[in-house]
Amino acid sequence: MIRIWDRVGPEQMPKVAAELLPEASRKGKILLFKGDLGAGKTTLIREICRLLGVGNEVQSPSYAIVNEYSDRHGDPVYHMDLYRLKNETEAFDIGVEQYLSSGYFCMVEWPDSFSDLFGNEYPVIVLEHQNDTRKITLTYE
Ligand code: ADP
Ligand code: MG
Repeated sequence: MIRIWDRVGPEQMPKVAAELLPEASRKGKILLFKGDLGAGKTTLIREICRLLGVGNEVQSPSYAIVNEYSDRHGDPVYHMDLYRLKNETEAFDIGVEQYLSSGYFCMVEWPDSFSDLFGNEYPVIVLEHQNDTRKITLTYE
């Protein structure tokens, strides 16, 4: 299935998150976010996390690689940015597979180089620049 949101401005990100989350998480809690630097991946994840009951602390995990938040039930929500990881060995060392198999929400920025880890089984959200707005495409089986 493909779902597209066209010409999404900053103020529409909460609405897109609210439409996207139930659809993308129907079969699981692992969501992959692709798009250039500045495309809005972290912004969209922040809005999705807000829907899960996470507070305002959602920031880019570029340096920590993994941020852990708590949802409204006190369950963990994992937010990963794999941009700086060189290979699957580094991903393994950081425990990415454990996060993925935890059963909790995992929002993953930059999954692109880790096809062995993710295969084709998880919903992918692609964000693209459209001048001062964004095009957001959700693809899932
Ligand atoms: P990424 O995580 O993909 O690198 P960020 O979420 O950090 O991108 O966002 C980069 C910039 O784009 C931020 O300044 C943010 O405010 C802006 N931005 C996010 N979403 C939108 C949008 N829908 N339209 C315009 N600008 C946006
Ligand atoms: Mg980011």
